[in-house]
Amino acid sequence: MKKVLILEDELNIRSFVVINLRRAGYDAIEAATGQEALDKLAENPDIGVAILDVMLPDIDGFEVCRNIRTTNKTIGIIMLTARSQEMDKVTGLMTGADDYMTKPFSPAELTARIDALYRRIGNSASDNVEELKQGPFTLNVRNRTLDKAGTRIKLTQVEYAIMKLFMQNPSRALSREDILASVWGRDYDGELKIVDVNIRRLRIKIEDDTANPVYVTTVWGFGYKWGA
Ligand code: CA
Repeated sequence: MKKVLILEDELNIRSFVVINLRRAGYDAIEAATGQEALDKLAENPDIGVAILDVMLPDIDGFEVCRNIRTTNKTIGIIMLTARSQEMDKVTGLMTGADDYMTKPFSPAELTARIDALYRRIGNSASDNVEELKQGPFTLNVRNRTLDKAGTRIKLTQVEYAIMKLFMQNPSRALSREDILASVWGRDYDGELKIVDVNIRRLRIKIEDDTANPVYVTTVWGFGYKWGA
């Protein structure tokens, strides 16, 4: 059974999420504090997606996210933010989260996002081309790794999916809508800004000079283009 961790200190919200996850066929694992979440993740390395509340009594959710990402690049992470915490969303994504949801949210929307993350984690098995090589970059589709001039670059699942899309479409301008649909799924109804935030983070990892990107270039008013 697919395991999902829910970190939320408010019992009412946590129970509500747990009931809905179980109804959707997930094995829900609960944590009420940041430390408890990290302990549960260590005990259950097969957790595929973690839902992290930001406001917690001990360490905040961003810190938990950062902590998870130091050792786990593949787990899907969804942050739960309060309404109108626009900056929090961006901070959450910069610390390595894949997605965020604003409270209050519908259980159907939450399970749709989790399903989308799980699909992305499982998608690589059907690929038949093993390696994509362009310029200094080698993307290994089987191992889901990226090397630049022989040095491994650690990517989150979302960053990997974006890189793969780029390398499958060299020199082609991709709209932000195309990227969102391809990476997050056609049924994803989140904001386009999530694309920009992830591209910004990807550039920090792959560009020689983030201020003057040469591999991922901006196509103003449209989207992005890959070239290497
Ligand atoms: Ca809370």
